[in-house]
Amino acid sequence: MTSLNTDAPKIYHPAYDIHTGNYVDCCPILPRHKEKYVCYCSSEQKIFNNKSEFSYHIKLKCHRIYISNYNERINDFGSAKDYIKNLLVRNGNLEKEVAQLKYQLAQLTRQSVPDPMVDLD
Ligand SMILES: [Zn+2]
Repeated sequence: MTSLNTDAPKIYHPAYDIHTGNYVDCCPILPRHKEKYVCYCSSEQKIFNNKSEFSYHIKLKCHRIYISNYNERINDFGSAKDYIKNLLVRNGNLEKEVAQLKYQLAQLTRQSVPDPMVDLD
């Protein structure tokens, strides 16, 4: 009988080394425990379930390149967050401008439309 494992894997993030200012591999799984982690060091999802699989995974060339460039990836993410924040501010300003223009349009429309109750004889 087969069973479905619906547990979504956790995303693996390397640890930050305060002495070097770089990110380093640090196994998130305790010895003799199993826990599913996914690493996005390559286009295909790399999953490891225990400490020995983790040890094997971090020796892969794609993972070593990923870790050596991780600082830049984090910085790119930070600048992307700033970019999104600026877009949200700009969007808020544009929404205010649209609301003001709608209000002005409603006032001008009210002024230009003749009142149907007024008799024009
Ligand atoms: Zn990896």
